[in-house]
Amino acid sequence: LMGQMMQQPLLISSLLQHAARHFPNVEIVSKRVEGDVHRSTWAAVARRSRQLAQALARLGCAPGDRIATLAWNGYRHLEIYYGSSGSGLVCHTINPRLFPEQIAWIANDAQDAVLCFDLNFLPLVEKLAPQLTSVRHFVLMVGRSHMPASTSLPNLLCFDELVDAEDGAYSWPQLDENTASSICYTSGTTGNPKGAVYSHRSTLLHAYASALPDAMNCSARDTILPVVPMFHVNAWGLPYSCALVGAKLVLPGPHLDGKSLYELFESEGVTFSAGVPTVWLGLITYVKSQGLKFSSFKRTVIGGSACPPAMMTTLQQDFGVEVIHAWGMTELSPLGTLSKLGTQQLKLPPDEQRKLLEKQGHVIYGIDMTIIDDDGHALPWDGQSAGNLVVRGGWVIDRYYGMPASPLVSVDGEPGWFPTGDVATIDAHGFMQITDRSKDVIKSGGEWISSIDLENIAMAHPAVHEAAVIAAKHPKWDERPLLVVVKKPDAAVTREELLAFYEGRIAKWQIPDDVVFVAELPHTATGKIQKLKLRDQLKDHVLA
Ligand code: ADP
Repeated sequence: LMGQMMQQPLLISSLLQHAARHFPNVEIVSKRVEGDVHRSTWAAVARRSRQLAQALARLGCAPGDRIATLAWNGYRHLEIYYGSSGSGLVCHTINPRLFPEQIAWIANDAQDAVLCFDLNFLPLVEKLAPQLTSVRHFVLMVGRSHMPASTSLPNLLCFDELVDAEDGAYSWPQLDENTASSICYTSGTTGNPKGAVYSHRSTLLHAYASALPDAMNCSARDTILPVVPMFHVNAWGLPYSCALVGAKLVLPGPHLDGKSLYELFESEGVTFSAGVPTVWLGLITYVKSQGLKFSSFKRTVIGGSACPPAMMTTLQQDFGVEVIHAWGMTELSPLGTLSKLGTQQLKLPPDEQRKLLEKQGHVIYGIDMTIIDDDGHALPWDGQSAGNLVVRGGWVIDRYYGMPASPLVSVDGEPGWFPTGDVATIDAHGFMQITDRSKDVIKSGGEWISSIDLENIAMAHPAVHEAAVIAAKHPKWDERPLLVVVKKPDAAVTREELLAFYEGRIAKWQIPDDVVFVAELPHTATGKIQKLKLRDQLKDHVLA
């Protein structure tokens, strides 16, 4: 007997239809690159997305064509998400903070047909244009009044004009749910960036799972401000999960400094946010220095790199903001695990609960994970054994775009697992903790030292603004940990004081050998510390 239920493909357009029909007046508020605050609604975004779909078809776009963006978080970007994917085109968000050569390489690799971009990226796009081999149309994401008087771009189009010229009488096509919906490239910290091609189905499943209470816990009572950019793994899926639950969405545009964010959090009544640790550093510094409090902000997901426990404590104890530590990656759309306690863990003493919450957490339904040794054998979930983290699930890539070779590996002979490149432990509660990226692990005399553990300790020192621990060459031990620190403004601390701070907090042999003070640390385009670059900068450092 077969089930006798309606067949409805899981399509991105269905999210927008749902939000527009059942939450038509819920707001989408955007801080625009042009400088002002723009107010829209799910109904208006849905109408303009249909108009955009018509406009893209009029430009000659055919199913499967790639529509690229170089844009901040804003309502026009949201309309491109829905207007392109919804109509069978593929939304390709490009990270504008990459080097121009990388952007050109990615746009050419993805064969982008249309490039839509924010006003402040006009000079960048003018410079890139001669290298872009497949782009047929350049679209500036502004209204008529902000179009430049002159530009070197051929036939530069105006986004609002394209949209306004259409009537919106458009029905979203009933696509196969496995149709490609969007492409994101990994940041390419090793070699060229690689493309992950998501489908409507994988995106919908990810949106469902990530909205659940033990994940991001999104609801129609939330006002959600993704600080994580829409060009960084689709703002961790929030543009989709907000439509799914009918949440108000606040899109902060280009200004992600502490003051701008705080003002927007307060003026719009933001309840929930998400971002990498570095943005919270800026926000916390600002709010503390001004003696401010949050009036509506209740919880945030922090991920993308390890959230220092000191940051969790500050947000929770000083500001009453619940921190949900999460782990994911581009290849996972991106959510994999989150740190939320279940009934059993809530029975543990407070200190043990805190330790669990500091980990990257538990998988959500739809993702399976385990850890393996270098021979592909599963390791015990004892919270001690560290191994290569592998995952599988409905929103994990099967292969990279344009690369026929499968990246998947076997676990004890069972094929079909994606190797994340992360080293982790898993404990008896099923809580996973990342100890390192495999290439950042410090191998000292054959033993592994977790750079993340050492960074977390340094971050708990009151004089430390930001810390990174890298492997430095050592004649006897092969590698030893070197701590690199940015001090807080006006704070004073010595090398000896910092090293002494490790005493009693970690095994003696894991304490860094030396400390280097720097004015700033190099960050990747997504705000993570660029350890490769740091290692290169400090390659001549002789350990004391
Ligand atoms: P890229 O791989 O392009 O740098 P991603 O955003 O896909 O960008 O990065 C995924 C990687 O980021 C993970 O494989 C992991 O190494 C790291 N990461 C993500 N979240 C965390 C976290 N909470 N703690 C530690 N590392 C994390």
